[in-house]
Parts: sequence; C-alpha cells; structure tokens
Amino acid sequence: MSTILSLENKIALVTGGSRGIGRAIALEFAARGAAVVVNYNKSPEAAEKVVEQIQTAGGKAAAFQADVSDFKQAEALVKFTLDAFGGLDILVNNAGITRDQLIMLMPEADWDAVINANLKSVFNCSKAAVKHMMKKRAGRIINIASVAGQMGNPGQTNYSASKGGQIAFTKALAREVAARNITVNAIAPGFVDTEILNAMPPETLEAALKLVPLGRKGRPEEIAFAAAFFASEEAAYITGQVLGVDGGMAMM
Ligand code: NAP
Repeated sequence: MSTILSLENKIALVTGGSRGIGRAIALEFAARGAAVVVNYNKSPEAAEKVVEQIQTAGGKAAAFQADVSDFKQAEALVKFTLDAFGGLDILVNNAGITRDQLIMLMPEADWDAVINANLKSVFNCSKAAVKHMMKKRAGRIINIASVAGQMGNPGQTNYSASKGGQIAFTKALAREVAARNITVNAIAPGFVDTEILNAMPPETLEAALKLVPLGRKGRPEEIAFAAAFFASEEAAYITGQVLGVDGGMAMM
C-alpha cells in the first residue's frame, strides 16, 4: 500500500460498519493502517465478519453494538473506542435507514425513525467524539449524506430532510471546531449497490438510473475511497465541504 492517504496509527469509528457502505469504509480504513471500531445495531454476525476479515489481513478491529439514534448508546460507543484502542481520530457517521412513503401516507413514526437514525445519530456521535477531539486538538468527522439531501426525492421527505440536515450540520460544526484543527466534511452518494436499494421498486430504480450521467450504480468501495481521502492528512485543509460521489447525478 502506498503511503499516500495513509491512515497508519489512526483510530477510526464507523457507525453502521456491519454492512454496505460502512463495511466498505471499515475495510478501506483498515487496509490503510487504521484500527477500526465496527459499530452495528441489528447485525452482529455481519459486524463480526468485517472484524474477522480485517484481523485476518493483519489489521486491528473490534465490533460494538449500539443504536446510535440513542444518545447514551452513542456515548457508550465512543467510550468503547477510547478504551479499546486508546483514542479516536476519525468518526464516520454512516449509519442510516429509509422508510419511504408519500407524505399523505407516511406514519409519524416513520418520520421520527428516519430523523433519529440518520440525523440525531450524527449529533449524538459527534457530540461524544468532539469532546475527545477538542482536547487532542485534532480530528476528522465524515458524514455520509446523500444526493437526496441536495436534490430531494419524492417519497423521501423524511430521508431527504435527514440528509439535508446532515449537510447543514456538517457546515455548522466545521465552523465551530475548525480552530481546534478538527475537520468536518460530508459525502453525498448517489445510488450505491447495497441492501438499502432493495427497498426501492426495481422500475423506480431503473428510471432513477437514467438520471445518472455515468449510467450505473456506484460501488460501496467508491464511497469508501472518498472517505479515506477526507480522513487523510492530505485533506487537512478541507472542511465544511460536501463531495458528491454520484456518477454526476447532482452537480451542485
Ligand atoms: P445498508 O446496507 O442498509 O446498511 C446500513 C447500515 O447502517 C447497517 O450497517 C446498519 O447496521 C446500520 N444502522 C442502521 N441504523 C442504525 C442504528 N440506529 N444504529 C447503528 N447502526 C445502524 O445501507 P447503505 O447503503 O450502506 O447506507 C449507508 C449510509 O449511506 C446511510 O447513511 C445511507 O443513507 C447512505 N446512502 C446510501 C446510498 C445508497 O444508494 N446505498 C445513497 C446515498 C446515501 P445493522 O444492520 O447492524 O442494524
């Protein structure tokens, strides 16, 4: 592995690292030398597999169950990271869910579930992590947002609002903690080949892919590489930014 974008001796926490994009980020960071905490909520076996894969390749990793929409559990997750590896350099707020429905039919519970899992979780984990990063005067926070938060998506008022909220949160926190050498950036993926897309009717997905100039879904590894860039020393002068990794879909 080249020394460019090295994460050697860094300690990373990836929320929702058990599957999909989070899994790819955990593997990419570990391959670049970081010790990684793989957070999961409902998929212990998948999380353990990610940990095993990292350890088999000679890396350091540990899994930890926490529902990051709950502040106390997010705090426990950050504490676990500090205890297990002795620090926290990089937080990736990746955990997320969808509960798609037209607003007329959307139950209030589905609004709350999505806002809590996707947006409140970012507040919860960032608040707990920033406390440590401020003392260390260094840190990286990377939020996995979505093109839905930039462009909006019919049937996704809850999801789009949560992702738009993440983007605004990214900018506000970036200004707040910049003096302490902590950067906060967001990635806005387009359609990426993970289980989250299974909730979408195939014909809707097919129609949506027609809006992607590069004409295909993204791969989780393509998002993971962008996250490694934001996490690296090379990105030290970049903060408050939103990087679209979307095949050209949004072009903000
Ligand atoms: P995915 O395959 O469904 O994986 C979601 C991950 O989030 C799982 O590891 C899941 O863990 C975890 N998770 C969900 N709720 C959680 C909670 N309350 N606490 C802790 N972990 C939780 O989805 P994905 O496609 O990889 O999505 C990852 C992120 O990328 C999400 O924020 C999503 O909005 C964003 N994104 C995805 C796409 C796409 O096309 N795939 C596009 C734009 C943005 P468990 O299984 O252990 O519960």
